[in-house]
Amino acid sequence: MDRKKKKDKTKKYKGSDFSELFASHVFHESEMKKRLPNRVYKKVEEARETGDMLEPEVAQVVADAMKDWALEHGATHFTHWFQPMTGFTAEKHDSFVVPVGGGRAITRFSHKELIKGEPDASSFPSGGLRATFEARGYTAWDMSSPAFLKQDEGGVTLCIPTAFCSYTGEALDKKTPLLRSMDAVSREATRLLQILGKKDVKKVIATVGPEQEYFLIREEHYQSRPDLIYTGRTLFGSRPPKGQEMDDHYFASIKEPIAAFMRELDEELWKVGVSARTRHNEVAPSQHELAPMFNSANIACDHNQIVMETMKKVAVRHGLVCLLHEKPFAYVNGSGKHNNWSLQTDTGENLLEPGSTPEKNIIFLIFLAAVIRAVDEHAALMRIAAATPGNDHRLGANEAPPAIISIYLGEMLTGIMADLAGEKGDRALSRGDLLRVGTSSLSPLPLDSSDRNRTSPFAFTGNKFEFRMVPSTASIAAANFTLNTVVAESLSFISEKLEKSADPMQEAMALAGEIYKAHKRVVFNGNNYAGEWVEEAERRGLPNITNTVDAAEAIISEKTIAMYEKQNVFSKTELESRYEIVLEGYANTIRIEARAMIDMASRLIIPAVIDYRAFLADTIRSLREAGSDTTVEAANLAELSGHFLEFDVRLKQLKESLARADEREDQGSRVLAVAFRDEVFAAMQRLRETGDILESQVARDFWPVPSYGEILYHIVDSPV
Ligand code: ADP
Ligand code: MG
Repeated sequence: MDRKKKKDKTKKYKGSDFSELFASHVFHESEMKKRLPNRVYKKVEEARETGDMLEPEVAQVVADAMKDWALEHGATHFTHWFQPMTGFTAEKHDSFVVPVGGGRAITRFSHKELIKGEPDASSFPSGGLRATFEARGYTAWDMSSPAFLKQDEGGVTLCIPTAFCSYTGEALDKKTPLLRSMDAVSREATRLLQILGKKDVKKVIATVGPEQEYFLIREEHYQSRPDLIYTGRTLFGSRPPKGQEMDDHYFASIKEPIAAFMRELDEELWKVGVSARTRHNEVAPSQHELAPMFNSANIACDHNQIVMETMKKVAVRHGLVCLLHEKPFAYVNGSGKHNNWSLQTDTGENLLEPGSTPEKNIIFLIFLAAVIRAVDEHAALMRIAAATPGNDHRLGANEAPPAIISIYLGEMLTGIMADLAGEKGDRALSRGDLLRVGTSSLSPLPLDSSDRNRTSPFAFTGNKFEFRMVPSTASIAAANFTLNTVVAESLSFISEKLEKSADPMQEAMALAGEIYKAHKRVVFNGNNYAGEWVEEAERRGLPNITNTVDAAEAIISEKTIAMYEKQNVFSKTELESRYEIVLEGYANTIRIEARAMIDMASRLIIPAVIDYRAFLADTIRSLREAGSDTTVEAANLAELSGHFLEFDVRLKQLKESLARADEREDQGSRVLAVAFRDEVFAAMQRLRETGDILESQVARDFWPVPSYGEILYHIVDSPV
């Protein structure tokens, strides 16, 4: 198969050009400073701090500067760039060109167009918040995330990051609650720091670094699989001879065509200011990962959207397709996102940095306790933050953390917390210890305060937490607005206790111990993949919520509503609408998968098996005519026919269960989603089982779609 490299328009950058390349397509602070009068720049800075509106004259100066900058870079259009509840980004381009009569036109960009947009947004999911006849939705400029240029074959477009809300102010997107939650955690963390004597801190920033996993496959393989096209995952496919047993893909040397993709991806990302930093091969064949440098949660979320979009775009230029689905292939590991999260003061201090003597670091210990309490109290909410129908395939399947939320602290910190709680903790290691590698030619390495635990859903990794069960397709907004808010609530609980204290520092130590004692059931340093953990977790009373439909309930629990309302992140109405959106989304996903499966079974697999059976029958006839023995051929045909009959029966069952589920459309979103989970999805699994047996019995040339083996191992031409 020939793999044509489509078009390589990108300039290749040498090391020394990188500083010129990085963020060259971003209207960042220094660009703004250069182009705006000092007075105006100051106002922008102020407004960014206070969240106040810019006065029209000031906003117009900014709009003009932004337009000039964009035009100099070849832009023809601008768009408000927002993140509706689809989980993707949305844009609607308007041109800068305005006709002025007499066949003439000028370019214009008004401050109103910069600050506020009104896309007709009736068709985005709103969970009943907005009926289509009152479709008013507004986008509002998010000054905390810089505007950038999107440049591709479609030209150059100025993208202005915005939040998206309804006429009545309800959030219709993923960004608004994220921004609100950043305010909440900043407010509560600052309040606690003030109590503990850190008077210079005025603001605390949630920092996030999301590692993104993905698969690359050949475009021609993708194009020949309707399941991948319609659902992002394979609905049939028998087990390849080789999966990931040998662990030979993880961190393996990167094949040149893949490295070429990664290089172009990095360059495209650097241009728009995404600090793509780490790239490597992942566990499954054809699976890879990209990690950026961390940033404020809001920018990290915008950047992760850009990363996902750019991955897809650049892949096609290399004759490849990027799959972001959580489980594109059964039998091999799927993809996730590791959401690294911490809190940083405006004075530059990481509040989750243990320092060299963590046992004396009161601020660290009380913030650590706050996180432990938050995750235990709101485990069900953390679970829904990581729930998608795609992720249901991964969690608990021995490749990703189980559906049980727990925290990995590591031996040293667990020991310190246990000490504080007055329990006997054996602190086996301390920070000053050195790691000795056992050979005199290697110098000892300083020991981290925690080891790694790759099986934990929420692991402390030295100076941050890594939420390791976030779905690879999802916006990271939900993971972070959840984390920010549950921690804000916990910090507020702590401040209320310490506010009245005569010696808050002393009491904070004791309180950290008390909190640990009350919530230590959520701490688990062992192997989360082990079967015993499921039983142990049950004994500890930790929830084990295996699927998205059940996980959704946490969104509308009384405890959730009270917390989100208190922290001003969501109103009850907004939460109810999000609950509807999750359940509707679940039913829609399974419905589309079922339809794609029926389509593939009826129009590809059945005709292929018919052809192959006819071929076998013809062969048997010819052999018999020639007087040859046909025992083997006849046995093959009989076995195949048996499975084929079964396949047909199971296909009918799937069609019936889909029809029955669709009849429940007006019985409420929960009833509908449950029907799709328990009946339709179950029928899909049964059909797949027989389909995969057929695949293993039909000659390769007759099978209508490429096999797992072909897709996963024939990604590049050369074997090295
Ligand atoms: P490792 O590769 O050892 O897991 P890294 O330090 O490279 O650890 O971090 C992995 C991810 O975590 C990166 O995206 C990184 O930017 C991010 N990260 C590092 N420090 C923080 C922090 N304080 N807050 C949020 N994310 C962080
Ligand atoms: Mg990681």
